[in-house]
Amino acid sequence: MSAAASYISIRDVSQVFREDRHQEVVALKNIDLDIRRGEFVCLLGPSGCGKSTLLNAIAGFTLPTTGRIAVDGQTVTAPGPDRGMVFQEYALFPWMTVEKNIAFGLEIQKMPKPRIREKVSALLAMLQLTEFRDRYPRDLSGGMRQRVAIARVLALDAPILLMDEPFGALDALTRRNLQDELLRIWAELKKTIVFVTHSIEESVHLADRVVVMTYRPGTIKREVAITLPRERDPSSAECNVLAKELAQLVMEEQYRHNQDEIRASAAAG
Ligand code: ADP
Ligand code: MG
Repeated sequence: MSAAASYISIRDVSQVFREDRHQEVVALKNIDLDIRRGEFVCLLGPSGCGKSTLLNAIAGFTLPTTGRIAVDGQTVTAPGPDRGMVFQEYALFPWMTVEKNIAFGLEIQKMPKPRIREKVSALLAMLQLTEFRDRYPRDLSGGMRQRVAIARVLALDAPILLMDEPFGALDALTRRNLQDELLRIWAELKKTIVFVTHSIEESVHLADRVVVMTYRPGTIKREVAITLPRERDPSSAECNVLAKELAQLVMEEQYRHNQDEIRASAAAG
């Protein structure tokens, strides 16, 4: 990809964690990745391969040990209003209604009240939450809570959405439903999305490009472009061919992950 086409640019990024006094973990090693404006990229790989570490570095929650991440030419040194994050666990305020949860970030920004009401109403409608606006998170299903979490991030108008296994805790049907909603929102609002998942099917359904990562050290194993037209049917033959190709790649890394666990448990004794 030419430098001009790169919106999020990740250059030779490595991340080393100190696990304890004697042990270091190379969570990311020499990651080079360019993401275009408006692109939907999935980071795929087994647990422990560094997906969250890379996403957190793009978010600016952690600084890479070496290398550079830039968004629109600006080096990332901290979280910023251009990047919104959605986590797997619904980080909602339990004492606030759905409406208040969505409005919270706008109130912090001191947006005028009528403007907040207008904006929140539009988001409630977009995520089909209007009838739930006065409920509290505890009275919502997991899927509904995740809709609120998405609406809350969308309220802040960040052009980039970073999503860390946002649908990982949901049942299959709810998950499909939210994937479709997310695709609709992505197309409508023209967001750039970096979406972490360990689900092959999910990545084939969602992504323009799937970035498969290796397990320890986390590197880029393969980038697979998904050029199938949108409104994909994940059970179609075309999707299955891609899923098989990705499964082969992920299984190799899953195997290394399993071997590591076996070694660790043997060492523990
Ligand atoms: P994934 O999201 O793909 O499951 P992570 O990015 O969470 O993987 O973790 C990658 C590796 O880095 C793992 O081996 C994990 O144990 C390690 N790791 C992540 N964060 C820390 C940390 N703060 N301190 C020490 N090790 C960490
Ligand atoms: Mg993770």
